[in-house]
Amino acid sequence: MEKRLPFLLIVLLLAVPLYAGDGYWQQFVHYKMEVKLDPSTHTLTGTSSVFYRNNSPNTLDKIYMYLYPNGFRNNETILAKEAAKFFVKSLPRDEAAGWIDINQFRWLSENAGATPVSAFKVDDSILEAALPKPLKPGEEIRFELAFTMKVREFQSRAGYRSTQYDFAQWYPKMCVYDEEGWYNVPLHYLGEFYGEFGTFDMTIDVPFEYIVGATGVVTDGDPGWSSVEVDTSLNDSDWQKKYSEMKKALAEQAKSTPRRRVSFHAEDVHDFAWITSPDFLYEKGSYDGIPIHVLYRDHAKQKWSKVTTERGRRALEWLSTKFGRYPYPQLSITHGLLGGGMEYPMLVMNASESEGLILHEVGHIYFFGIFGNNEQKEAWLDEGFTSFQTRWYMETRYGKMGYDVATATKKANWLQRHRPEMTSNESNRGFAQFYMNSGFNEPITRYAYKYADGLGYGVNAYTKGSIFFEMLRYVIGEETFEKICKEYFNRWALKHVNEDRFRQVCEDVSGTDLGWFFKQWLHDTTTVDYSLGKISKQMSANGHWQIIVEVNRNDRGVMPVDVELTLSNGEKQVSRWDGMAEKGEVVFTTRHEPRRIVLDPRDQIMDKNRIGHGTMRVEFIPDYPRMDYEPPDAYVVKLRPSGWYNDVDGARFGLRARGTYRDTRNLRLGAWFGPRSSELDGYFQFNNRLGFLGARTTYTLSASKVEGRFMGEALLSLNWSRSLTSQVQSNMQIGVNYAKLDESDYGFRKFDIDDETISLKEWSDGTVSSAFINYSVTPRGMSWRSAINWSARYAGEFLGGDSTFTKVDGSVRLWWPSPKLGLYLRGYAGSFIGDEKQITLQDAFSAFGATSREHFQSSYLRSVGSFPAAAHYHLPGGGNLRGYFDQPAPLRKIFAANVELRRNQQLPLLGKLLRPVLGNSTISAFFDAGRATDLTETTNNLADAGVGITFQKQVPDRWYSFFLGTNYTIRLDFPIWVSDPIVKSDSKLEDEVKFRYVLSFQNSF
Ligand SMILES: [Zn+2]
Repeated sequence: MEKRLPFLLIVLLLAVPLYAGDGYWQQFVHYKMEVKLDPSTHTLTGTSSVFYRNNSPNTLDKIYMYLYPNGFRNNETILAKEAAKFFVKSLPRDEAAGWIDINQFRWLSENAGATPVSAFKVDDSILEAALPKPLKPGEEIRFELAFTMKVREFQSRAGYRSTQYDFAQWYPKMCVYDEEGWYNVPLHYLGEFYGEFGTFDMTIDVPFEYIVGATGVVTDGDPGWSSVEVDTSLNDSDWQKKYSEMKKALAEQAKSTPRRRVSFHAEDVHDFAWITSPDFLYEKGSYDGIPIHVLYRDHAKQKWSKVTTERGRRALEWLSTKFGRYPYPQLSITHGLLGGGMEYPMLVMNASESEGLILHEVGHIYFFGIFGNNEQKEAWLDEGFTSFQTRWYMETRYGKMGYDVATATKKANWLQRHRPEMTSNESNRGFAQFYMNSGFNEPITRYAYKYADGLGYGVNAYTKGSIFFEMLRYVIGEETFEKICKEYFNRWALKHVNEDRFRQVCEDVSGTDLGWFFKQWLHDTTTVDYSLGKISKQMSANGHWQIIVEVNRNDRGVMPVDVELTLSNGEKQVSRWDGMAEKGEVVFTTRHEPRRIVLDPRDQIMDKNRIGHGTMRVEFIPDYPRMDYEPPDAYVVKLRPSGWYNDVDGARFGLRARGTYRDTRNLRLGAWFGPRSSELDGYFQFNNRLGFLGARTTYTLSASKVEGRFMGEALLSLNWSRSLTSQVQSNMQIGVNYAKLDESDYGFRKFDIDDETISLKEWSDGTVSSAFINYSVTPRGMSWRSAINWSARYAGEFLGGDSTFTKVDGSVRLWWPSPKLGLYLRGYAGSFIGDEKQITLQDAFSAFGATSREHFQSSYLRSVGSFPAAAHYHLPGGGNLRGYFDQPAPLRKIFAANVELRRNQQLPLLGKLLRPVLGNSTISAFFDAGRATDLTETTNNLADAGVGITFQKQVPDRWYSFFLGTNYTIRLDFPIWVSDPIVKSDSKLEDEVKFRYVLSFQNSF
């Protein structure tokens, strides 16, 4: 359903000044509801009597209501279909569904009583009812509904789990009618809500043991808080004793009073949420006479007790001081079922007692609650503003790191203490920079459900949204910004806000036109890039210095830029250029000699490239695992030792370095020494975006001298995926490669054939110069996934190449994953075209697995002797016929099919002992078949079958993950049957059925 925007209204809008009280209007609604919960059937039945006053200048002929629970009725709803586009199944199973049925709907009139049951329409999560007669401006109407709600299993933001019920977006709720017409948009997968301000009188009826928290104040009945109130003066064991007595008393009382009936009253709110569970504990705090009610599940007492009321108090104090006094008579912080936190007027549902989370969600009672914006249309006004104020609070309280460093350090282990950290502001901006320069940037102002993916919605609403407010504060100054916060509250508290209304406040208070700023940062996807230009300094006759600093604007985006000058006596001066022109100048006159000039010293303007700001440094750090460290002013080089073994060099020792600045100018370097051969090898790779083709195109240049081989490669990578997190990724690579075997000692591999270890040549002498193209795409459905790869390589007599051949190959993988029984299929075909004498050993196909060129990518498979031949190491690829590890004949043509069934299965006895080390296990049964043509044009049909086991482990975040990595896979396959076993040394055939094994650190395909 689309929103109507009558032409007259547009004219009206243009004429209306954007002041509340001066042409502004909002509708009024008063709900009186009685609801009764039956946990045995997860059903809520209720009646709602609604009073609605049309304060608009328009006559209405219909009304609309949101029936949000219907978004979870089945997997055919608008929400479910949108979720399916992201391959998310909205309802994991049919029993999880929930909905709301309207059993009766009637208009009430004061003189005639109730009219008969009226007609209404329900479409997905929107109810539409034609009014019995047009509702003129200033007129009122009453109507009554009876409804039954099947509560869903907890999903999205509401539902039940075990004995707890979170009621959010649950009742028939008036759609907003504002200056743009009805906002009758159904429930979408991405985005939040919009509500009409009004009054709620709610009577809730639950089983007696259930404790209730809700929007509003208790006007009748007992929510049960006092019967589970924590005595914070008691120690743990005394409290446990007291608590079990309290529970006993509660159960006793429930025998005579089976139900709890409690009424809540709330005014000036646009939503009503409630939560109930028999396992809640209660604690009470307050801020300046306003009670703070905390309800959490009893097992969470250690974490929630005392700190939650205190953090709630601090949040109210902060928000009341910075914006305006909290206008409601209570705050409830409750222990919700959802993963993060969710806001409702006067009540938040949080997964944890985290201070940042409390600030965020309680902040939302302002930014969505008190300032009632349309969260679907302008999510930045609620998520951006509250994320901003949370960071502002955390930085004010804990300093520039933006979090409680002392407490975090106390809890951290060795690795976590050593890993360098960025400030929360740097992380936030780093993430925004990554997204904004990824080639997938979308503007902040977009309907939530129109973003390409959840990441686009999240990063725009929260990350870029919060930085918008920080930059606004920078542009107009801190003092003016604080005045804006207060004036915004004065004008717009308890009203509907939008971008224009907020901007008007900013412009009125600051006296500045901010049109360019709002347009650039909210509506465009512009990026900003300034750099220092020429700097000249001169000492005049009176001994004063004159310093002229040139600043260049290198991108379309504009921002005022600070230039900071540090003098020889340590003194600092800052001067600002408006940044509008392509080139600008800042002039300083000083008594002391200038020492250092820095552009945008506090990283305020979202400059995408701070190289050329006078701040850049190179930082060398150990390459710790799970490190997300990309500070704005450092080219970070991560170092780690590396080593392996081969028969020619013996043990190899060396160092790897990875350098990056904001995922650009990626540099990889390596150097290794072989004591036995006295060879020093090295490796270099540089990767960067190819600017003029857009951010999704990168180029990579690499050169290496590693283990007897010289290699050089130039590569162009293109990404055509629909969004950054799209599950259907599509990539192409085009490149030129030069490879020369210089010392043939290295070009061998060891094979375990007939229980003997034999070295066979696996790399041809001479030079192969080739051009190649690879294409991969990963289509998928809800239950199946796939990966299609295709590549072609042409080797010719260019760049000194000795061989001429054309090679084409491709694979299709298709699988239906399932922990119980997953089916995995793979088809592969490859062939050389042209003279077979020219085929090089490193490029020839293998029936067993990957080519030698592919083996070369891995240090532990690279050269002769690097991995024990007896391990029968299987690097997946080629024909992937696992039983043929002992038949390494190079092939010119191969067709193969692989079938595998996998089941997650913990091994009974051994598994228990091995699990802490090896992780989870998957057992499999496989069958491989292929048709292989070797370089002598002999063709064989081959097949094998067997069983396997794969262990996979996530390595915890401890010191040893520095050596083990963050996860590992160990696969053992037993191809006990092969169709064509080898001929043994005594010319007999080996048995078809025999104990065989292969080892790998990867899945088979
Ligand atoms: Zn939020």
